[in-house]
Amino acid sequence: MVVGLGGGKTLDTVKAVADELKQPVAIVPTIASTDAPCSALSVIYSDSGVFESYRFYSKNPDLVLVDTAVCASAPARLFASGIADGLATWVEAQAVARSHSKSMVNGDPTIAGLAIARACEETLLTWGYSAYVAVTQKRVTPAVEAVVEANTLLSGLGFENGGLAAAHAIHNGFTAIDGDIHHLTHGEKVAYGTLTQMVLEKRPDEDIARYIRFYRSINMPTTLRELHLENESWENLVKVGALANSEGDTLKNLNPNLSPEDIANALLALDAFSQTVK
Ligand SMILES: [Zn+2]
Repeated sequence: MVVGLGGGKTLDTVKAVADELKQPVAIVPTIASTDAPCSALSVIYSDSGVFESYRFYSKNPDLVLVDTAVCASAPARLFASGIADGLATWVEAQAVARSHSKSMVNGDPTIAGLAIARACEETLLTWGYSAYVAVTQKRVTPAVEAVVEANTLLSGLGFENGGLAAAHAIHNGFTAIDGDIHHLTHGEKVAYGTLTQMVLEKRPDEDIARYIRFYRSINMPTTLRELHLENESWENLVKVGALANSEGDTLKNLNPNLSPEDIANALLALDAFSQTVK
């Protein structure tokens, strides 16, 4: 058996190693920072950190073992990043269902997958803030238990069986550019990707503002300045859009007719909108 202890990148690596060796895999997350632990896939990046592809496995991990006390003693920023990653689940699953696209296991989104994705959002918006505050004090509360389940289990099952759309594709798109963006967490980039998806799907202003206020409350980025991208050139933002829109990624599940420029415009429009939200 191969055992993985750590965060998303470590766990994705361990899943690939176990697959190569044809051995069972036990996943022991030490942070509740991503939706990676329960899924049957790894994200593959180039040596320079650019998104390349998803690597799919024939089965999910044999065991996922989470100690909430360990997760609550990790930096609160990582816990908040897991909340942001989990909040993308329902937003993306709805887009996949709407467009009759395929889930990450290449089937139609299931009723169970969608119900789990919805429960993920409900849990995070209901208890995410108080759980985040408790984790800043390294405390485990019932809210922390609920949010760790949402970040790890509901988010993982929800995205695999409900599907991904623009939020994660835009996260992957950000890896096309150099600089400080590579120091941000998965969840921080997914947070901005989720808001950008909401702009692209013409969500009501108040929906987007609600998400912005929530992300701010847990110190997740909602502006390009907070992503260290405030001085990024138009050409580079179009590069983000082009990689997000590439074959093998999931932005087309939102809308197959978007151009890289449409995505760059949404990244900039969201930044301007966010700055006006009180
Ligand atoms: Zn994710």
